Amino acid sequence: MENRILLVTELGPDGHLKSSIRSLLAAAKALKGDTDVLIWGGDTTSALVEAQHLPGIHRVLNGSGATLAEGLAEMLCALVRPLARQYTHILTAATAIGKNWMPRLAALEDVAMISDVVGVESSDTFIRPIYAGSIWATVCCPESLKLITVRTTAFPGVEGERTEPVPVENLPCPAAMPLSTRISVHTHAQEGRPSLENARVVVSGGRGLGSAEHYEALLGPLAEELNAALGASRAAVDLGYAPNDVQVGQTGKVVAPDLYIAIGISGAIQHLAGMQTSRVIVAINKDPDAPIFAVADYGLVGDLNLLVPELTAALQK
Ligand SMILES: Cc1cc2nc3c(=O)[nH]c(=O)nc-3n(C[C@H](O)[C@H](O)[C@H](O)COP(=O)(O)OP(=O)(O)OC[C@H]3O[C@@H](n4cnc5c(N)ncnc54)[C@H](O)[C@@H]3O)c2cc1C
Repeated sequence: MENRILLVTELGPDGHLKSSIRSLLAAAKALKGDTDVLIWGGDTTSALVEAQHLPGIHRVLNGSGATLAEGLAEMLCALVRPLARQYTHILTAATAIGKNWMPRLAALEDVAMISDVVGVESSDTFIRPIYAGSIWATVCCPESLKLITVRTTAFPGVEGERTEPVPVENLPCPAAMPLSTRISVHTHAQEGRPSLENARVVVSGGRGLGSAEHYEALLGPLAEELNAALGASRAAVDLGYAPNDVQVGQTGKVVAPDLYIAIGISGAIQHLAGMQTSRVIVAINKDPDAPIFAVADYGLVGDLNLLVPELTAALQK
């Protein structure tokens, strides 16, 4: 049977398509089949035109309206479920939102889901990390409907635009369901800095920084020189050095930048799970036996309070 693939994509806070759609397209390309893109949100006007020009797709499904503005799992399932059985594969990015609604859809459809996919072997065989990324398992899913969350950093985005827009089908906006309500959203805007997910360089700090003041004073100027996003270990977040949404690791974000600089981070397995596929890893730590050095391409052993300002000054020259 020919694969029929649906990519469900989120919009950024500015209402435009997130670049992660390009990685979903790469995963769909590996699956081979007719691919539709579903966009959803309170107002999808800007993203709609962008979606219509994505390469390699058949049509765009547009779910726009007030009940979809918050990305609640109940609403997204109400939007996607009526279409679900038209497809053999439904893919979404393994973000906080994707990890929230996709399992609900799997339960409603009574199928097993495949989470955090990092590789596509065939239309029913996928690679995904287990044990915090220490093992990559190859799993085979016999379900007729395969529901998949994708680790988008594992799929280099498909480039290009199509000149002729594909057709759009407007979907009915689901009626409000008072099952859950979003009360507030706290995001830490990295002012003037690239977002953690898209940055080519990430400068991350750990417990070794010693305080929130040190975190910003030492890492801020270095990040500025490198046009980097700031990240943090869980210890640094728990101690209040850095906000929760910049945590990198098993229970934080997974990043794979060109350059990852780990400063005062020991390299616990749960942290490595979020950054070990970075292209080049640099570690600064006073302990020569810190596990981070086992994955680092370059290591500086010494006191970060001396080494980080020295590195920043050298870059400023
Ligand atoms: C279920 C579970 C999920 C988890 N998820 C995550 C996660 O998503 N992300 C995450 O990061 N952790 C996670 N953790 C926590 C993880 O196990 C570690 O506790 C945490 O990563 C440690 O953070 P750290 O490296 O900053 O601190 P530490 O392990 O305390 O390391 C601090 C490092 O700083 C160095 N240092 C200290 N002072 C200096 C100095 N002056 N100069 C240079 N180096 C210095 C020390 O040598 C040390 O290596 C999780 C744990 C569990 C159990």
